Amino acid sequence: MDDKPLSKISPIAVDKALKCAVETVKSIKCLRSGDLLMEVGSASQSRSLNKINNLAACPVTASPHRTLNTCKGVIRCRALIDCPKDKELKSQGVTDINILTKDDSGSRRNTNTLIITFHTASISKHIKIGYLRIPVELYIPNPLRCFNCQKFGHGQKTCTGREICAKRTGWTQRQSLQQQNEMPQLRR
Ligand SMILES: [Zn+2]
Repeated sequence: MDDKPLSKISPIAVDKALKCAVETVKSIKCLRSGDLLMEVGSASQSRSLNKINNLAACPVTASPHRTLNTCKGVIRCRALIDCPKDKELKSQGVTDINILTKDDSGSRRNTNTLIITFHTASISKHIKIGYLRIPVELYIPNPLRCFNCQKFGHGQKTCTGREICAKRTGWTQRQSLQQQNEMPQLRR
């Protein structure tokens, strides 16, 4: 927002102006930054919303949300091992395709698992690859784990917890390492 954040303008005035411009939207949320996050019910509403440059006499800029308008799914398909970026997928609302690879004695080899990004808020149930109808599962990324306190949901750079060794309960990583170095080495 250019001058004054939208959060400082009367919500009644903003709501009235919005109803004039795009009719009723699904939901409106005021973010901590002062921006407004809106969910709309149709593509035409989204187009009208993106054109708005003034709301209740306040100059504004509207743009699609960077991550909320996409979603990721997982498919398994042998036919795509050699040509994972096939154009046929792109025409089905897919914006990005990433094939998982695995180590094969020093070099990477494509697997039959692909992570596909759709430019929609929910994934398609199936995707067509030639005459094949491949089911799409929701992609759930690995949870973020902290290597300092070993808990989930944050990284070690932002950790405020106590350092814990991942291998020995009740030990710090330093104690664990020290103990390891003091242990007599087994020789054959
Ligand atoms: Zn932590």
